[in-house]
Amino acid sequence: MANMYYEKDCNLGLLEGKTVAIIGYGSQGHAHAMNLRDSGVKVVVGLRQGGKSWDVATKDGFDVLPIAEATKAGDIVMILINDEIMGEVYDKEVAPNLAAGKAIAFAHGFNIRYKQIVPPANVDVFLAAPKGPGHTVRAQYAAGRGVPCLIAVEQDATGKAKDVALAYIAGIGGARAGILETTMTEETETDLFGEQVVLCGGVVDLMRCGFEVLVEAGYSPESAYFECLHELKLIVDLVNKAGVGGMNYSVSDTAEYGEYVSGPRVLPAEETKARMREVLSDVQSGKFAKNWIDENKNGRPLFNAQRAALKDHPMEVVGRQLREKMLWQSDADLDSAT
Ligand code: NDP
Ligand code: MG
Repeated sequence: MANMYYEKDCNLGLLEGKTVAIIGYGSQGHAHAMNLRDSGVKVVVGLRQGGKSWDVATKDGFDVLPIAEATKAGDIVMILINDEIMGEVYDKEVAPNLAAGKAIAFAHGFNIRYKQIVPPANVDVFLAAPKGPGHTVRAQYAAGRGVPCLIAVEQDATGKAKDVALAYIAGIGGARAGILETTMTEETETDLFGEQVVLCGGVVDLMRCGFEVLVEAGYSPESAYFECLHELKLIVDLVNKAGVGGMNYSVSDTAEYGEYVSGPRVLPAEETKARMREVLSDVQSGKFAKNWIDENKNGRPLFNAQRAALKDHPMEVVGRQLREKMLWQSDADLDSAT
């Protein structure tokens, strides 16, 4: 079992007199910056000039600096910009301004794991990764709660990296919910695997196939959307609350019987797991990361074509029409992240 840490294990006082530079002010950046500030930590925000986040962070009352300046000002430099451009920004703006004994931190290990960022040996390197979208990280903190976080120390130059990381996570509220110890390798590989085979890749293809089979059989797209997409949330909410057994308790026995007899027919375990192992092997070997980095260098041809095609897929078209009429769905439900 992995180690878990809570507020009693964290000493927020370690951040006294220190400055945290938050690089990026998007989903995660705004939440880390605001929560740390409310925890009494001195925060500066590092951004590119002319980007849309600059005005937002300024309006929120932060000292906003160009990334190079924020890096110089920060004892802890948390990098919260898009993973696919992080390596480039790190080389140009962050690396030249890192001094010995500082810490650099991440909310996802991709760039460290696949060596897009290779920090010098004289700084601490840690992961402080909330397991939830930034808007939830902020909302939970403001409500006196927290989102569970992962901690990993990749490099301990000062001998204090773990305590600093624990203090940081306490500052963003994560210690209220629990901090799970991992490594950047485990976090990165399980994260990529999970989003590819289950959360995004797996689930979206499952929904799409179900939708297409019903529509091709002559059922209405509206019914297909409700059955194969809309209702998924109800099921997932039940699983989150009470596990698969609790979900089965709430659905009808007919649905539960169908789960047992038809689940393995549409997802034959041995075949599905063999494919999943192929995906895992591409994640572990770095093949997936290399393809994604190359895709970005080439202007995202596959990514953009798929995104455009999805927009016109009948399940998306009918979904847009139906959701317009479902005004009871709150905005909070639309928060998304993996
Ligand atoms: P967002 O896309 O929400 O925000 C990106 C930020 O990066 C913006 O402030 C943007 O500023 C800035 N930025 C973009 N391009 C550049 C550039 N070329 N130079 C400088 N700044 C740039 O990112 P997220 O918060 O989603 O992700 C940040 C990190 O957190 C990633 O490592 C991600 O894996 C991780 N993470 C994200 C989670 C989530 O729920 N979203 C969950 C857990 C981890 P501008 O306005 O100037 O474009
Ligand atoms: Mg993820």
